Amino acid sequence: MEKRISQKMEGLGTRRSVIREIFEYGNRRKAEIGAERVFDFSLGNPSVPAPPVVNETLAALLAEREPAALHGYTTAAGDMGVRRAIAAYLEKTHGAAADPALIYLTVGAAAALTITLSAVLPDGGEGEVLLLAPFFPEYRVFAEQAGGRVRVLPLREPDFSIDPAALRAALNEHTAAVIVNSPNNPVGSVLTEGNLREAADVLREAEAAYGHPIYLVADEPYRELVYGDAVVPFIPNLYQDTIVCYSFSKSLSLPGERIGYIFVSPEAAFAREVYAAVMGAGRALGFVCAPALFQYMIPACLGQTADLTVYRENRDLLYSSLTEMGYTCVKPDGAFYLFVKAPGGDAGAFCKLAQRHELLLVPSDDFGYPGYLRISYCVATDMIRRALPAFRAAMNDYEKEER
Ligand code: PLP
Repeated sequence: MEKRISQKMEGLGTRRSVIREIFEYGNRRKAEIGAERVFDFSLGNPSVPAPPVVNETLAALLAEREPAALHGYTTAAGDMGVRRAIAAYLEKTHGAAADPALIYLTVGAAAALTITLSAVLPDGGEGEVLLLAPFFPEYRVFAEQAGGRVRVLPLREPDFSIDPAALRAALNEHTAAVIVNSPNNPVGSVLTEGNLREAADVLREAEAAYGHPIYLVADEPYRELVYGDAVVPFIPNLYQDTIVCYSFSKSLSLPGERIGYIFVSPEAAFAREVYAAVMGAGRALGFVCAPALFQYMIPACLGQTADLTVYRENRDLLYSSLTEMGYTCVKPDGAFYLFVKAPGGDAGAFCKLAQRHELLLVPSDDFGYPGYLRISYCVATDMIRRALPAFRAAMNDYEKEER
């Protein structure tokens, strides 16, 4: 019998992401030699528990609300009371105009992104999505699934900022959306207000030149995960044609519960039509509504975070130890990743070498930016301490083999 299924989807399902492959390899190794002997820095799965307000709110909801209402469908865009609470929070916290009628609750940032891209890419397959590299690898999958073509613009080293001239050159009449992710996975960098303003000026110029909006899609699952003095500007205040894709996965340590939202700036061009297209995309993709119990949890948890002190401690320990051993990386201001230059420049080769010491790192190639290692430090601090000799041994091996 002839196989008649989607080759595209089969390919996506069988070609695992490198991150997942390394994670699965780590699980096999843990079973073979014991979990405490494997140093797994592969996955961005928060290691810190959700703040107490999460369970308290869930317990109160379960005790107080009538089950049929609590577990029933909400409207497709999400419960209106919850959307009002989000709008009020955004107005109060960021001084931004927000309209509950332009907020759409989603199954995490991943769904927010697929829905948003499906909404803003014009029919016909001509639209482009500009990705700033390094980028979260799933962007490519989401953009292509939404019928878009992907164009990649590398960020500017050493701080991984947006180069306005390069941005100008990368935009064209087909650009429908630019995805910005700050704090950034995999670099941990935070874009400054000054840099975002420069980028906004270029985008406005391009909109005027090409005669249509270019939507900036702000992917913000790490918004609250910042250390030190870093400030994360609220992008709709700097560029009106912004759509925010927010998630509670990382801020509240709830990645498995799948809850987030889309915020269409009321000042965006064709905001109501964009929102209608968001509703349409959510419908076409079969999302129905975001998980109801976790929608109702949101109002009490807005602005709350898991305890970030562990991440800060991990960042400081890893950054100072690795730089002292001769590794080079940008000191991250946010998220929970360290982006380290692969000694010798071949990230895949160095990751293999590190695996000899049971050290699991992710090569940056899938992030559209070869030559680096991503180290996810949302892990127990104790594991980092125990892994430091392995980092040193990997560097020593590399230096020996270079000679
Ligand atoms: N965007 C970025 C940059 C991420 O790192 C992730 C998850 O790791 C997501 C989106 C997806 O997040 P969610 O769990 O909310 O779907």
